[in-house]
Amino acid sequence: MTPEILDLLFPNKLPSVDEILAKYPPRQLPEGARVMRVAPSPTGKMHVGTLYQALLAERAAHQSGGVFYLRLEDTDQKRELAGAAELIISSLARYGIKLDEGIDANGNDKGNYGPYTQSQRKEIYQVFAKSLAEKGLAYPCFCSAEDIEMRRKIQTKQGLRPGYYGSHAKCRNLTDDEVLSNLKAGKPWVLRFKAPGKYENQIVVKDLMKGNLSLPENDMDIVILKSDGLPTYHFAHAVDDHLMGTTVVSRGDEWLSSLPLHIQLFVALGWKPPKYAHLAPIQKIDDGNRRKLSKRLDPEASITYFWEHGYPEEAQVEYLLNLLNASFEDWRRANPTLPAFDFPMNFSKISNTAGALFDFVKLHSIAREVVARMSAEQVYEATLKWAKEYKTEYATLLESNREKCIAIFNIERGIGAKSRKDLFKWEDAEHETEFFFNRPTYDESLLAPMTHEDIQKVAADFATIYDSADDNQAWFAKVKQVAEQNGFATDMKAYKADPSGFKGSVADVAKILRVAITGRTQSPDLCSIMKILGKEEVAERLKI
Ligand code: GLU
Repeated sequence: MTPEILDLLFPNKLPSVDEILAKYPPRQLPEGARVMRVAPSPTGKMHVGTLYQALLAERAAHQSGGVFYLRLEDTDQKRELAGAAELIISSLARYGIKLDEGIDANGNDKGNYGPYTQSQRKEIYQVFAKSLAEKGLAYPCFCSAEDIEMRRKIQTKQGLRPGYYGSHAKCRNLTDDEVLSNLKAGKPWVLRFKAPGKYENQIVVKDLMKGNLSLPENDMDIVILKSDGLPTYHFAHAVDDHLMGTTVVSRGDEWLSSLPLHIQLFVALGWKPPKYAHLAPIQKIDDGNRRKLSKRLDPEASITYFWEHGYPEEAQVEYLLNLLNASFEDWRRANPTLPAFDFPMNFSKISNTAGALFDFVKLHSIAREVVARMSAEQVYEATLKWAKEYKTEYATLLESNREKCIAIFNIERGIGAKSRKDLFKWEDAEHETEFFFNRPTYDESLLAPMTHEDIQKVAADFATIYDSADDNQAWFAKVKQVAEQNGFATDMKAYKADPSGFKGSVADVAKILRVAITGRTQSPDLCSIMKILGKEEVAERLKI
């Protein structure tokens, strides 16, 4: 390519390749330390898959003593969504995913290998694109979108592979004079890579998760610089991951088919490609069929879904680690109290063949365990934080009744107690605390077939002897006493042997008290509930 053409393609004075390379010295890290990144595009709501990717990369990098960073891939400016970048940054922080480099909460770059936002790296891409053009490894293409579309239609009609390759790559063989006259005429252009491969040939690449893969060589002359001067993903990937010193690229496996191209780009630029770990996307079962979790179809594909419903962040992290690595569950069992981030991530054990299946039942069961491990204060604080954002009247109630709410969340919680598992997301907390603040409507149908008279008598008898200072044992002795006084069996065995000899059992007496006190047939420990309500309120509720 002549200097005149190069000057027309890149009219601005650019730094040299060496000047750029000097700004990105090799990182000084111990042997085996991985440099990994998450590189989302700020084009929509943050996808749960981005968090999944970030967790994998962060764990794998930090556990090797390496570096984890964030790069914002915002070269598709038409699709960019306002606020998406901020959401990515705040989400990573929210889940405790620590960035060594990238962009901080105020939007400032952090680290020596930036800028970490691709749109701020335009000049860098230009330098390397120019160097490829100079070496004859890239060329300007003047085909319009219509030309490309037309070619695609013809190729499809003729049963050929669609794309810009081989003899279909019209601008590949333009003469310097043709290129010059197009440029001088001000024709818009893009820069294409001159693909060195043959589709018939196979290359073998090792993927850290999928093993050795055999893929066809790339023969597509793909666009590396778009008409706005910004790079395509492919080119930016090679330039950035090289300069930023990425040693392992973990990314979605939709990029697998572009891998031969990426390797060609690294080679053309004179660099050693990084290692790759392609991860299958999270899937779900929809109507009996497995498919990718979709932002358009599935609200749970967006991270904010879990915020709105108040899922504890720790539970989501544990769940995603569990999806990534089937051995997580065994590890958790062996280490019930360690933070989830201590789990050793192992690439070769990633559940990756068909893509992990998103499953609410499993998420909920993990969330139950996570919340059961929390203290009442932690539950209170997390619920309050959620309510302040999503349910302000409830936040007011929580704030003005701090001690009482902590006591409520403390029921059946803590050392020695078999922690309750009913509360696992903050949006359900209100249901747990509600009857402490509002006297429930008494619904006798819940106690059928017991008679009104029997019920009334049981409740009244208990009210007269109840003392909020009673411990569990004394409390239960009183329940039994009331049972006995009213013809209910205190001994379950005796009751089962002769049900018609009694009005019911001590369990029915407890049920009467529960329904009168809570309005429900199921509740946490009733003795603790009564203690929090106090003698007077208990007496009021027992007036049936
Ligand atoms: N911006 C790309 C994406 O969102 C990143 C892929 C990669 O991690 O290299 O898919």
